[in-house]
Amino acid sequence: MPELLAERLIRDVPDFPKPGIMFKDVAPVLQNPAALQEVVDHIAEDAKGQGAEVVVGIESRGFVFGVPVALQLGVPFAMTRKLGKLPFDRITEEYALEYGTNTVEMHVDAIDPGQRAYIIDDLLATGGTAAAAARLVERLNAHVCGMGFMVELTFLEGRKNLLGYPIRALIKY
Ligand code: AMP
Repeated sequence: MPELLAERLIRDVPDFPKPGIMFKDVAPVLQNPAALQEVVDHIAEDAKGQGAEVVVGIESRGFVFGVPVALQLGVPFAMTRKLGKLPFDRITEEYALEYGTNTVEMHVDAIDPGQRAYIIDDLLATGGTAAAAARLVERLNAHVCGMGFMVELTFLEGRKNLLGYPIRALIKY
């Protein structure tokens, strides 16, 4: 695949949010419409190929990339949110992060049983977040048809936590 505009824009911020973490800052990609469009187009193409019937975005940068993909495909968008943010009946999953632990939640009616759900986040690190999102989807008796990320930190081997799911990552470090 030819180099994406986004690859040159993603900014390395050392020691954020903790010493030893090299944070991949995607803000400059969002400031460049051509770069953002390219990323959305590539993820949307994969989601379409996987037969996505609903896009699941992981709070909060997964929303930024997930909503335009859902609109491009003409399918619903479902949110996984951090603990305590969702107002309606919800299900909850805890997971380990590259830096700390976290909990994600989803409304019980966010996805219909049997739907093909495509999970989107900005970045795949250890895979804990995406695995928790997949568990939420499966607890709603839906099917994870694929996952799309702009960035993958391959050295963290997140794919090992996501065995069996088709994964598309556009930029790998
Ligand atoms: P993980 O569950 O370890 O795959 O972590 C993925 C989530 O944490 C994504 O929502 C990322 O936005 C965020 N994240 C983890 N590591 C980094 C990093 N080095 N730079 C930027 N975001 C990160």
